[in-house]
Amino acid sequence: MGSLTGKTALVTGASRGIGRAIAERLGREGALVAVHYASNTEAAEHTVKSVVASGGRAFAVPADFGTAGAVDTLFDGVRTGLREHTGAAELDILVNNAGIMGGVAPEELTPDTFDRMMAVNARAPLFAVQRALPMMPDGGRIINISSALTRMALPQEVAYAMSKAAVEMISLHFAQHLGSRGITVNTVAPGVTDNGSEMLRNPEVRAALAGTTAFGRIGEPADVADVVAFLASSDGRWITGGWLDASGGTLLGTSAR
Ligand code: NAP
Repeated sequence: MGSLTGKTALVTGASRGIGRAIAERLGREGALVAVHYASNTEAAEHTVKSVVASGGRAFAVPADFGTAGAVDTLFDGVRTGLREHTGAAELDILVNNAGIMGGVAPEELTPDTFDRMMAVNARAPLFAVQRALPMMPDGGRIINISSALTRMALPQEVAYAMSKAAVEMISLHFAQHLGSRGITVNTVAPGVTDNGSEMLRNPEVRAALAGTTAFGRIGEPADVADVVAFLASSDGRWITGGWLDASGGTLLGTSAR
């Protein structure tokens, strides 16, 4: 029996990268996983197959958080999928992972780019929590994926970091709001993590970024997924309103290594 046998989970942005690793890990622990994605159906189906291949259960649900009504669309799909698989629409675990980065010099940032970043990275997670709560039994789990960039400067990601600072407020305020129901709400903040992006295939870039962590390597999606799985399990019951650094010590500063 896995630590999440009989539980249900929604992982947003689970078609690729960190979200896929979270879906795979929660699935291995026995949770039925709703694999949310924006538009990459093939990648989402890959995640579903991977969960099923390791003995778990999963289904995919699309919704582009940059469009109006996306969170409602998502939850319609999640409820339908949960009912099909379990006969009920109970959601034990919500992982707000979907996110987009900017990579735009502060001078070049436009209001449209900023609005899109806030819509996907902050507005959608807030309303996902709101929609999830009526479906969530006492003892549920909410985990918001932020970034180490709310604690260190990278000027071309100022809008991204602002959106992640906003998502961290969900953990702070909802943790207190939901304590009486035994629902924990926490933030996990990764540093550079290999999500398969082209940039990270460049050996020089990779080596430079590896040098920013305490361990001399960049993070793997599973490094972050394991932290999320801990918070999602009963072992994480006494942690709420927390901010967990899952950056491999990036915030410690560079060593003399
Ligand atoms: P990724 O590989 O770029 O995957 C992004 C996921 O989000 C995909 O599932 C994608 O769906 C979905 N998504 C993209 N745009 C969306 C939209 N408009 N509406 C709804 N969903 C959308 O992501 P990642 O690098 O693993 O990052 C996962 C989370 O960790 C993000 O919140 C990110 O900010 C955070 N993080 C990442 C790093 C890192 O170095 N990778 C570091 C710190 C924090 P499709 O496949 O359909 O496009």
